[in-house]
Amino acid sequence: MKFGGSCLVNNSAFEKIVKIIGIYHDSRKVLVASALNGITDILLSTAQNIKNASILDKNMAILEKRHFDIIEQIFDEDSAHYLKAKDWVDEKLSNLEEIFADVEEFGLEPYYKDNILAYGEILSTYILHQYLLSKGLDSEFIPANKLIITNDEFNNAYPLYELTNARVARLLLPFLEDHEKDINVCVTGFIGRNKIGYTTTLGRGGSDYSATILAHSLHEVSIDKDIRVILWKDVDGLFAINPKFVPKSFLIKYLDYDEAKHIANFGAKIIHPKCLEAIEKKNIPLEIRNFDKPLEKTDFTHISEYTDKTQIKGISTVENAVIISVTSGSLVDVPGVLAKIFKVMSKNKISVSLVAQSATEISTSFIVEQKEAKKAVEALKNSGYFSDFFEIKAEDVAIINITGNKVLENKTKVDIFQALDKENVRVKALSQSTEELNLSIVIGKEKLIEAIKVIHNDLCEDFESIEDQNKN
Ligand code: ASP
Ligand code: MG
Repeated sequence: MKFGGSCLVNNSAFEKIVKIIGIYHDSRKVLVASALNGITDILLSTAQNIKNASILDKNMAILEKRHFDIIEQIFDEDSAHYLKAKDWVDEKLSNLEEIFADVEEFGLEPYYKDNILAYGEILSTYILHQYLLSKGLDSEFIPANKLIITNDEFNNAYPLYELTNARVARLLLPFLEDHEKDINVCVTGFIGRNKIGYTTTLGRGGSDYSATILAHSLHEVSIDKDIRVILWKDVDGLFAINPKFVPKSFLIKYLDYDEAKHIANFGAKIIHPKCLEAIEKKNIPLEIRNFDKPLEKTDFTHISEYTDKTQIKGISTVENAVIISVTSGSLVDVPGVLAKIFKVMSKNKISVSLVAQSATEISTSFIVEQKEAKKAVEALKNSGYFSDFFEIKAEDVAIINITGNKVLENKTKVDIFQALDKENVRVKALSQSTEELNLSIVIGKEKLIEAIKVIHNDLCEDFESIEDQNKN
């Protein structure tokens, strides 16, 4: 189970964690915790403003206060656990101060950044561990840099599974197999270490990923394969549309891994897109559940092999994109034109998302992020080849992605285009690759909200599961 920062806010939140442990009394549990809300950001901004002594002092004071406040709330004053938690925070904050001094001396090397960011989880998870002990539960604390071994890519590390499996078998599994005690193992989210021992982090929001990496490795090394991951969140699960656009959208109850990967890239950022990679091959189910409704039986998101193919799962949007079109009236059927375009993009480190070219090959359109657009156009114009024979145009646009197996049906496409037609939304480009359960539609930015609303309203029935429609 992973508990995000919003599950660690006050005494009643910590009580709820104990309640959840009780609800799942039949299972052995690993509890992965994130930093307290906002702490990772504070650590980062301190590191980035290291030359500013007043920011350093102010932020160190905030870090101390935020953690002491929680400790004061959740422990009996001066109890053994209260003192242990406080000593831990004192000790770790003084370590942190030493690292900040190093950063000031040597600069914010990627290694330092990860080492610093890791402290949010190191503090919060130990407090959780002491809390469980104070409630009479069995608990063990394992910092994940003992368990998750990663490559050397600081700030965005990738797990080395074989090595991680061995660590999990040696250091984690024995606690779960201890049948004398019911041990809850508290593991820090977000962090790992490389082979030579430096702390790494898995990318922002990476605690979800930590939970699925551990599930993966447990699946490898444990005899018991009945493993699931639960991410406790402050929402019921994944919704079909970012509530920003349609407040009363549908909760997505079932998703298979492929659909989930598309949805995870949604604007609302409910789950970390990478976390599916770790569980997909093992078919480990993942649930996204509301921390405030731990007893909920049906209304949560369940990601597994199973999906309801009669449904559209979700609509996501890219609000600020630019479509660049490269057009030539004459140079058709010349091999290498696309290669040349993408070489220019790659040389300038510009990421291209959607690509559309008609079979007549007269014009090619592709999408780049708005902030890269100027650079992209200039680079194309400056490369002699394109300036001579091609016309290059750029236009601000928005993209709508519609995801789900149902999107592959003609009838669904008819409905989508009819809906767009009602609002006079002109489709500028579109793309669906053969392997994808996703249709991407490029439209004018000014029409985005109308377009989403009309698709949502007209295709309502396709979003809800049959079971829910019968219920209504
Ligand atoms: N604390 C880390 C972050 O804020 C990881 C996480 O919250 O999952 O990015
Ligand atoms: Mg966070």
